Formats: sequence, C-alpha cells, structure tokens
Amino acid sequence: MQEIDTFYVDGRFATSHGRARLALVNPATEDVLGHVLLGDAHDALAAVASARRAQDAFARTTPAERIGMLKRLHAALLRHGDALRDATIEEYGGPVTRSAWVAAFAASTFLDAAHTLEGFAFERTAGDSTVRLEPVGISVLITPWNSNAGSICSKLAMAIAAGCTSVVKPSELSALQTRVVAQAIHEAGLPPGVVNILNGRGDVVGSTLCQHPDVARISFTGSNGTGLAIARLAIESMKRLSLGLGGKSPTLVLADADFTRAIPAAVNAAFQNSGQACIAGSRLLVPRHRLQEAEALIARHVAQLRVGPPDDPDTVIGPMATHAHWQRVQGYIRAGLDEGARLLAGGLHRPEGLQKGYFVRPTVFTDVHNGMTIAREEIFGPVLCVIPFDDENEAVHIANDSPYGLHAYVFSGDQARALAIAGRLQAGRVAINGFRHDPLAPFGGYKASGIGREYGSAGLESFLETKAILQVA
Ligand code: NAD
Repeated sequence: MQEIDTFYVDGRFATSHGRARLALVNPATEDVLGHVLLGDAHDALAAVASARRAQDAFARTTPAERIGMLKRLHAALLRHGDALRDATIEEYGGPVTRSAWVAAFAASTFLDAAHTLEGFAFERTAGDSTVRLEPVGISVLITPWNSNAGSICSKLAMAIAAGCTSVVKPSELSALQTRVVAQAIHEAGLPPGVVNILNGRGDVVGSTLCQHPDVARISFTGSNGTGLAIARLAIESMKRLSLGLGGKSPTLVLADADFTRAIPAAVNAAFQNSGQACIAGSRLLVPRHRLQEAEALIARHVAQLRVGPPDDPDTVIGPMATHAHWQRVQGYIRAGLDEGARLLAGGLHRPEGLQKGYFVRPTVFTDVHNGMTIAREEIFGPVLCVIPFDDENEAVHIANDSPYGLHAYVFSGDQARALAIAGRLQAGRVAINGFRHDPLAPFGGYKASGIGREYGSAGLESFLETKAILQVA
C-alpha cells in the first residue's frame, strides 16, 4: 500500500495540514493501491507564500541560469523515466508504450523550453520605444488526470523559462505520478520556492489558489465546466489566464486519400490514450460514396486493437481512469444507440474476457448525424463517430459545426488540397496525412476548446507581461 502524505513546498517535502484521504485505485484491477492525504486551504496558502518569497529573486535570474535549471530538470526527469512510466501504468491504466511516451514527453518539455529560451528576445523595439517582456509573477498550474505528468512539466517548463515561480495543483487522481515528478524536480536542485506542488481537491485547494491575491497567472488544463468556474474566479482579480479545455476533433478523409493508410491512422487518432485525449479525432468524416469501403477498413482495424491489461506490451487500449468515467462513457454509448446511430464495432459493457477493470469495448458508430449528442459532446473514451459527407464544402461545414476547435486531421492524396482545407478549419492545430506532435508549435483551442496557447515562444510569452518604455530625450 502506497501512502502519500506530503506536499512539496519551500524546496522540501512537508506533511499536509489537510486530513482528508483519497483512495488511489488501479483502474485495470480495481484494487486500492494506496492513499493520498489531500491538502487544504492552509496548505494552499503555505504554497503561495513559498512562491511569493522566491519570486523576486527568481525574476532576476538570467536566461542562461534558467536554461541551466531546465537542463537539470530534463536530466532528472529522464532518470525517473521508468518510475514515471510504471506509475502511469499502475495508477492511470496507460498502456506500456503510451506510458513510456508520457515519461519521455514529460522530460523533453524542459529541454524544449530551454531551446525556446535560448533564442528568445526579452527586449524588443516598437516604433521609437523599447518593449520589455517581464515575468508575470506567481503562477498556478492546474492539471487533469489524463495527462498529469506531461501537463505539470510542460506548464512548469514555460513558467521557469519566463522567470515565474509556481504552485502546481495536479489532478488528485494522479498522486503516484505526481510523487515521481516531484521527486525528480526536487533532485534538480532549484532554489527553494520556485516550484511548489500540492495535492488536493479542485474545489478546496484549486479554488483557494485561483482566488489568492498574490497569484498573477493561472494555467489550467481540464474540463470546460471547471475552466469556466476558474475563469470567473480569475477575472475578479484580473489574473492572466490560459485554459486548455475539451475537444471533439474532426478527421477529414478526402475522396482522393489513400484509405488503406488514412483509415487506420484516423482510428488511431480517435483511440489514442485509450480515447481519453483532448485531441482525439472522435468525428471521422468520410465521402458518402466511399462509406462502405471506409467501414470495412475501420471494422478490420478495430478488430485488431487489443484491449487489456495496460502492463501487457500488446495492449493498445487500456481501461478508463475511474469507475465514474467508465459509467459516463457507457452512458454515451447508450445515447448513440438510442439516437439511432448504426453500431459498426463494440457497444455496451466490458470487452469479452475482461470481468474486472474499467474497460470499454472500442466502439464505432456509423451513419452518425452531426447533430446527435455523440457527435457534439466530448465522450473522452474509445468511441468514434463516422459521419458521411457529399462534398468538401459540406465536410468543412460539418467539421466546423462544433462548439469545440482544438485539433483537426486531414487526409488527402494532394498536399495542396489538404492545406487549403486546413486553412478553412476552425482548429488550433491541423495535422495533415498523419499525426505528429511539434513541441515548438503553438497548442491550444479555438472556440470552447480554450483560451491562449502553450508550447514554444507563444507558450513562453503567456507567462510574460509586456512593458513599453517611452523615453523623451
Ligand atoms: P477537471 O476539470 O475535472 O479537473 C482538472 C483539474 O481541475 C483537476 O486538477 C481538478 O482537481 C481541478 N479543479 C476542479 N475543480 C476546480 C476548481 N473549482 N478550482 C480549481 N481547480 C479545480 O478535468 P479532468 O476530468 O481532470 O480532465 C479531463 C478534461 O481535460 C477533458 O475535458 C479534456 O478534454 C481536458 N483536457 C484538455 C487538454 C487541452 O490541452 N486542451 C489536455 C488534456 C485534457
């Protein structure tokens, strides 16, 4: 049994003042792995005070000093890579390859931030004036359970690059992963108070942090409901805010695409991270005259995807993170059936042979209309909607007919056509003919998918205030 009863403050691990305990459950076995002692408002205030004490000196560090810190963080996270992978498998149910990628990604964010910082101009000119970019100040970084370690590290990397101290409020469901990350950060030997990490419930610790007058900036990734609540709190004291929220991303497979390549890739885009991905391509748009062909390829590919224990290297889709989330996904599958969508694969209940664990059958609905609940709402599980279109204009219309606009995928045999379609899509990122992450390119959403951008220079600038200095000779 693993018991986590400390939080990271002032450069050391201290026992939480909060007394509430939360059980940590292995989603593949339903066994209790341990408990986390949740912080309370007292702990939140201590964490902000620690960041406050460190902020002024940290803001005066040079970019070269901070690049050194980022490189030490990168090395420390790499040393803890196996532990982070294993915690992600055990606590979150992430399949082995995915969990190993998560650990490598978490480490790489620090190196990427170091590279961004290397060429970054903190002083510029505009007109006849000097423009200085200065650290915004104490930043609260709030993360979700589906990408806890990656979000902690990518947000922290940018805050550090900018010269901001931080209080991290990770998902309370991810305490084992957070403990590994916190230990690595501690070993990197940053000045005390630059990074503070606090387990706790969002409505206790999170809201205390978001209302604190000393906090200048909030970087939040999570659900739309929470994002809205945080935005309301933030605006009361004019905090700088970025929100990384939900998605219902379209994959447009154009008529000239190579279906044998595009369709498996599109299914993988939908089911990445067991479908628990903000950027999941959960609406697959295919030309009506090639629908049957697409359906056959989808069915064949889905049948090959192994759902099972996340520690099995052959597993592609692991369990949902919690029982409550499993129930939510089942509810959406039921809604799809009730709405009259045609089931191409999967369906209700656990996959055959899996009696325990929060496993979902990889599910594909076809003949979906974009007005159906399953096409409009973020399901956050391995559930794919196939929507036919008659021409490219209709495909673009369907793609954009969504409250969300986080990501989009386009497949075409003609790069120029794909680029033209990309230009018409309301999405913060568009991937053409496959999926890749670019850590230096901006990431964030149009419309209800959020406010602001992360990564690269756009991410760094979001932790900076702009000051224009106008001199009279
Ligand atoms: P959530 O909103 O339930 O929780 C996210 C975090 O907010 C947690 O740490 C939680 O404790 C905290 N929180 C909850 N209430 C709070 C409050 N009142 N004040 C301050 N903090 C509070 O989200 P989740 O279920 O953990 O994450 C899943 C969601 O995250 C999905 O909608 C997914 O699309 C989204 N997401 C978005 C991105 C992106 O980059 N756009 C990336 C990953 C996940």
